[in-house]
Amino acid sequence: MNKRILKTCPYAKNCGGCQYQGIPYERQILIKQDRVNNLLSKYTKVNKIIPMDDPYFYRHKVQAAFGLNHRKEIISGTYQPSTHRIVAIDKCQIENQKADQILMTIRELMKSFKLRPFDDVSMQGFLRHVVIRVGYHSKQIMVIMVTGSYMFPSKKDFVRVLVEKHPEITTVIHNINNKRTSMVLGAKSDVLYGKGKIEDQLLDHTFRISPTSFYQINPKQTEVLYKIALDYAGLTKKETVLDAYCGTGTIGIIASKDSKYVIGVELNKEAVSDANENAKLNNIDNIHFVNADASDHMLKMSADNKDIDVVFVDPPRNGCADKFLAALLEVKPTKIVYVSCNPLTLERDLSILHKLYKVEEIQPVDMFPYTEHVECVVLMSRVKD
Ligand code: SAH
Repeated sequence: MNKRILKTCPYAKNCGGCQYQGIPYERQILIKQDRVNNLLSKYTKVNKIIPMDDPYFYRHKVQAAFGLNHRKEIISGTYQPSTHRIVAIDKCQIENQKADQILMTIRELMKSFKLRPFDDVSMQGFLRHVVIRVGYHSKQIMVIMVTGSYMFPSKKDFVRVLVEKHPEITTVIHNINNKRTSMVLGAKSDVLYGKGKIEDQLLDHTFRISPTSFYQINPKQTEVLYKIALDYAGLTKKETVLDAYCGTGTIGIIASKDSKYVIGVELNKEAVSDANENAKLNNIDNIHFVNADASDHMLKMSADNKDIDVVFVDPPRNGCADKFLAALLEVKPTKIVYVSCNPLTLERDLSILHKLYKVEEIQPVDMFPYTEHVECVVLMSRVKD
């Protein structure tokens, strides 16, 4: 790969995807390290951030909006920040290259099939978004075509030609989103080709991924991240473990072979169904998943005086709810391993957990090169009863 060519991104002026465009990668790493140090070093010394060896093409989930440019040509790309304008992108330097090639084919096929992009002002037209998920190890590919109505003219032929051109595609899904919303996926889906899901491997375990389930977008660094989280947990097959905000059950399933029993909690029903399937796929029977709000389940565990030794917490960007943290302090596991994608909410949550817990390790991992985002794994151990 020629890194020299990649240094300048032609879309940087309008696309807000990469806040750190134009900054050398080594410098980006220093900025992230400083940011985490400034926020968290009051708890303990922050370890050196783990960078990516090759910080390009790491996004294995690619989401593109479809529209027309001023010459009425079909374009796809991301929205310019704070606007409704689509920045046309052909080749993005952080997105999986195969996914970008598939997007290009879809734009071409739309022309030959006379399909128009959806216009969300007039609410007319056909294609709104395309979401592509690529398995890192499995190389399986899911293509989700999001349209503004149930109509998909010549869908059989469209899918046939698309798959002929990209035989790597293992499933194609038609998702219908007919609402005025900034959400990409609508509630209804129809499988047009394949199984409607893909599988991928992480740390020698297989995971099924459905269209709406969360799955880390940078699988290479996810393996790095999970290894650290497991290492921090220091499991010895004797522990009862809670995997809170478990998604498709990835962390809990990987931890299960070193645990006595694992409970996973997740709000998204489709992700829980994937998690159950994933336990079966990996022949694991010392795990079960609960489809619930993490706070509600934590409160229940606290009310039931449940003994939990280790809790993995991996919440979305807004961090943990206050009532989740309050209940966690009641359940009082020996160790908490907090995986965070937002150092600001991590800092807020640590300031609460700090009452009972000592922060032992803080390990930043760069999962999102060229963006301002930084992931951290934190190990806390209980110091008071
Ligand atoms: N640990 C998983 C998922 C982390 S992403 C992994 O590494 O893949 C965070 C997850 O929290 C998402 O799956 C999201 O659906 C879930 N989530 C969001 N709010 C929640 C809540 N209030 N209770 C339980 N799960 C929630």
